[in-house]
Amino acid sequence: MNATARVIRGRVLSFTGDPAESGSRAYSLIENGAVLVNGGLIEAVGEAPDILARAPSGAVIDDQTGCLITSGLIDAHVHYPQTQVIGSYGAQLLDWLHNYTFVEEQKFADPAHCARVADFFLDELFRSGTTTAMVYCTVHPSSVEAFFTAAEARGARMIAGKVMMDRDAPTALMDTAERGYDESKALIERWRGRGRLDYAITPRFAVTSTQAQLDAAGALAREFPQLYVQTHANENKAEIARVAALFPEARSYIDVYEKAGLTGPRSVFGHCIHLQDSEVAALAKSQSVAAFCPTSNLFLGSGLFDQARLARAGVRIALATDVGGGTSYSMLRTAAEGYKVLQLKGQSWPALDAFYRMTLGNARALSLDDRIGSIEPGKEADLIVLDPRATPALAHRMERAGGNIEVELFAFLTLGDDRAVRQTYVAGEPCKDARSVA
Ligand SMILES: [Zn+2]
Repeated sequence: MNATARVIRGRVLSFTGDPAESGSRAYSLIENGAVLVNGGLIEAVGEAPDILARAPSGAVIDDQTGCLITSGLIDAHVHYPQTQVIGSYGAQLLDWLHNYTFVEEQKFADPAHCARVADFFLDELFRSGTTTAMVYCTVHPSSVEAFFTAAEARGARMIAGKVMMDRDAPTALMDTAERGYDESKALIERWRGRGRLDYAITPRFAVTSTQAQLDAAGALAREFPQLYVQTHANENKAEIARVAALFPEARSYIDVYEKAGLTGPRSVFGHCIHLQDSEVAALAKSQSVAAFCPTSNLFLGSGLFDQARLARAGVRIALATDVGGGTSYSMLRTAAEGYKVLQLKGQSWPALDAFYRMTLGNARALSLDDRIGSIEPGKEADLIVLDPRATPALAHRMERAGGNIEVELFAFLTLGDDRAVRQTYVAGEPCKDARSVA
């Protein structure tokens, strides 16, 4: 952790709860506010004169007056090896994997390539205001080593894991049930809980893992109950039919994971679009998390996420980019597309709810809300500064916001992207455009 004390001055927005449940009591907005960060943590937040008065002498003052300071954004499902296949044309899920992803991921046998892409990816996240992500690497342990090494060097809070795949993929991308277990376990023992890093057991999905491999992943989850599990589920109808054919004894796709011991409060299932009622009930009962990936679901033509149905059933929900099936690193763009998906479902999604989801909501979904997701003393100092005049279109729109925070936030979603993020602080240090020279 860096020892520099710093006062970041601006309008401070922070969530204390879910606006869908407690409305305007779910957040605080300090118009003439400031945040004092020290040693990588938030030391104090409040009115600017009070915070400036208590800041230690020599503290750096970052004057972001006129801008909005919020918690760093959190991406609950993203693939760092897919940064050079993002925007690949014309395929739905299974073809997209075989034609683009599985070709690209073979390059990660080369540690130098892993390191270069990990640096690019983290720089791009910070540029977009994302300070924490739950990340898929490739089947190669070197891809995990490179990612965690780069994240540790930046002091960032990141969760990642080695993809496990033992069928229906190119030979160069397959492990075995036993090797997947052994390699994952070695990585877990090396990286779990080190600094701000944590590990996710990562069977890619039931199509590319045999029952034996899913069971091995479940054994790891039992051995290390504090670890995360991440995988994909119910994204695409052809995928679901394939899972039904591969696991004829299973009652459903989610049942395959449940039987393997892979559901639970630290399990994040990407997509969850085409769910049977029994699957919704199983996700709710196990307190598993469904990750809504709107740009990916639109880009791959997968379908429309039914947020109201899952929320009604009590399923925990996260928001995620799913780059490179997803088309933007920006959580602002992701939430804007989420809004449109929900419009097509006849559902509403107020901007406050979307900002909650990107910050405290996703922190809760990842069981990290004791450390990140809101601006409170003692929490880790991952913050972003949003500039309402970042582009001519934003500045022009904001003239009509009339100081209404909900209108402003919705304009940030609709018109914002990485350009709207003026600064990103990771553990209290400014990181926007701090591009590495890898
Ligand atoms: Zn994915």
